[in-house]
Amino acid sequence: MTELAAIDAEVVVCRACPRLVAWREEVAREKVARFADLTYWGRPVPGFGDPAARVLIVGLAPAAHGGNRTGRIFTGDRSGDFLYASMHRCGLANQPTSVARDDGLELHGAYVAAVNRCAPPGNKPTPDERDRCLPFLEREIAALTDLRSIVALGAFAWDGILRALDALGHATPRPKPRFGHGAETAIGPYRLIGCFHPSQQNTFTRKLTPEMLDAVLRAA
Ligand code: SF4
Repeated sequence: MTELAAIDAEVVVCRACPRLVAWREEVAREKVARFADLTYWGRPVPGFGDPAARVLIVGLAPAAHGGNRTGRIFTGDRSGDFLYASMHRCGLANQPTSVARDDGLELHGAYVAAVNRCAPPGNKPTPDERDRCLPFLEREIAALTDLRSIVALGAFAWDGILRALDALGHATPRPKPRFGHGAETAIGPYRLIGCFHPSQQNTFTRKLTPEMLDAVLRAA
């Protein structure tokens, strides 16, 4: 078994955060009206993509009715539609849509993960929950031996990646680099790039446009 497969196997059975376990399972039981007849995943969501990735894209956590429903990160919601459409335009994905684990989506040269692997209430993991989950991201970064660029989708991911790199022995520059859309910093062998999160709030208000996301992914 590869290290990435071993990480995935550990992620999907993790129950280390009681609050998040209760929430992800409650959401999976109660569902939302438009998905009432579907069976939700309701478990932690592993990373996804190409083991030879040169680009790692990191979000906050699975969405309650997106990744927590489908079992694949950024899959089955509008944020995922926005992200994978951009990855497809940039040559990182074989198709522009991401609706289910068996939809045929393949990533080329890219891997997608999140700081927290369980959907959190209000999209807000606590600092303890973040720290408990970060070792999975650390191990993925170490296992992706061709990795060169890491894209942080939002400030929470930016902070989580800095912590993960620090834990891997790649000291964070001081003062700590601040998140911003297009912010860039070099840490160890990696280039970290900030990007606004493709949340519905950001994309509907055009705080993040398809062109802006494409530009970040092309730079990465
Ligand atoms: S958030 Fe991470 S550490 Fe916490 S239960 Fe989920 S997978 Fe485990």
